[in-house]
Amino acid sequence: MTIKHHPPEHLLAGFVSGPLEEADRLALAVHVAQCRSCRRLVGALERLGGSAIEQAAPVSLRADALSVVLDKVDAKPISMSGTTESMPPAASDLPDVLRNCRFGKKRRVAPGVSMQPLILPSSDQSRAFLLWSAPGAKMLGHTHSGTELTCVLKGSFAHESGHYGPGDFDYGDDDVNHQPIVGTEEPCLCFVAMSGSLKGNGWIGRLVSPFIRL
Ligand SMILES: [Zn+2]
Repeated sequence: MTIKHHPPEHLLAGFVSGPLEEADRLALAVHVAQCRSCRRLVGALERLGGSAIEQAAPVSLRADALSVVLDKVDAKPISMSGTTESMPPAASDLPDVLRNCRFGKKRRVAPGVSMQPLILPSSDQSRAFLLWSAPGAKMLGHTHSGTELTCVLKGSFAHESGHYGPGDFDYGDDDVNHQPIVGTEEPCLCFVAMSGSLKGNGWIGRLVSPFIRL
């Protein structure tokens, strides 16, 4: 697998330090698991963070801090594993990071295009889904007013920023204006994460927003 397109560094930094929305974090995890270069960068950022913590001056904790933490540990965990809501995608199509996720119903949303939402514990701000597109499908031209993080799992697509194959990561925000075309060699399967309001999101958002209310 030759990976040419990687997440921007601010997203990798967020992946390490933890402020990302759940859907975005999953998209980063899918890419990082496949990309040696980004794993190396994530490792370096983690070491940097560890060293900063070691050098930080100690702060005193509340007297009940330990019991508060233990209560949270004992609380029923929010789990992404468990019974699927509908037929899960073929495990062979999914990276390990997504295999224990729960999925909603797979729906056809346009000619040659189907999507299947992931059911996320914190779904208010996070949207994530798998998107299947037929070979050669030409998508609507679009701009972004939110962010769309796309990981290619199988097949390929291309737009003005280049050709995206398995392992590649496409980051779209409101500076982007492009018209993806799916490669003709096989169907394209992508994992897509969107954060923030759905209204006005890019082509994927407009295409599937009526279908991903979880
Ligand atoms: Zn990478």
